[in-house]
Amino acid sequence: MNHITVIGSGTMGNGIAHVFAQYGYQVSLVDVSKEALKKAMTTIDKNLSRQVEKGIISEETKGKALSNISTFTTINEEAAQADLIAEAASENFELKLKLFKEMDEAAKPSAILATNTSSISITKIASVTKRPDKVIGMHFMNPVPVMKLIEVIRGYSTSDETTEAVMALSKKLEKIPVEVNDYPGFVANRILMPMINEAVYSLYEGVAGVYEIDMVMKLGMAHPMGPLQLADFIGLDVCLSILKVLHDGFGNPKYAPCPLLVNMVQAGHKGVKSGSGFYQYQPGIKELVVADRFKR
Ligand code: NAD
Repeated sequence: MNHITVIGSGTMGNGIAHVFAQYGYQVSLVDVSKEALKKAMTTIDKNLSRQVEKGIISEETKGKALSNISTFTTINEEAAQADLIAEAASENFELKLKLFKEMDEAAKPSAILATNTSSISITKIASVTKRPDKVIGMHFMNPVPVMKLIEVIRGYSTSDETTEAVMALSKKLEKIPVEVNDYPGFVANRILMPMINEAVYSLYEGVAGVYEIDMVMKLGMAHPMGPLQLADFIGLDVCLSILKVLHDGFGNPKYAPCPLLVNMVQAGHKGVKSGSGFYQYQPGIKELVVADRFKR
């Protein structure tokens, strides 16, 4: 494999393009938004510079990585030549199905079609293509250039050959791939989201405050970030939608999203991206400040 097309150049797409380009792959980065592509290239440049400053890569590798990436607004002829297409467009069920139909029609027959979805069924996505054996989940973690894990998700029809190719490719990026099966939330979010939900319930029921809940998990369980801070970082809307997938997928009330989480999302308090969630965020201020509403 040497040519990778990445669909979507947002938070995850730019990181995925960065890592493939850093390891010498030819990357076609596709996004419907020209602005998103421009922003992605600026972010990649900045993140590569940070790696140079830290001595992780050389200035020469940075230059090569940047020259390995071409940007497009459609899956044109060049992007369609890829050996693997990694889809990282917005987390929207209808959009993913539409994109996979398009990718299936455009890509060469031997190409693998991977998705970075956090919660949508790989089996369902594969079912709209004529190559379900070549459709797989390649779930990178945020921030992609830093995080080692790739959760490799086998759909119901994913072949051994496709899985082995994606496991080998992940290792070429010096990542650690872990193979899991396609059930709601896979492994990462099936375990993480109920923990976050339980932290929100603990706040909702007045068991403890934001600071106290996060401190217990940080100091007591050696988590680098407390669950409420992590939820803010992921996006409370994203957490809510994954919990709904778990709730619908298993039909088990233990996954019911906490009403406080639902209210916060409805009120537009989505965490870091909206400026407030369990904590409040202001540009330039690094100190973690509990949101006014939750001050005790
Ligand atoms: P994002 O909103 O930052 O970026 C999505 C990009 O997709 C946008 O730039 C948008 O313009 C583009 N897009 C929308 N429709 C498109 C189309 N038809 N063709 C091409 N591009 C299109 O989203 P994100 O956070 O990068 O998430 C991308 C995927 O990765 C989602 O499936 C998400 O669940 C998954 N994911 C996200 C995280 C995370 O922490 N953000 C972690 C793991 C997985």
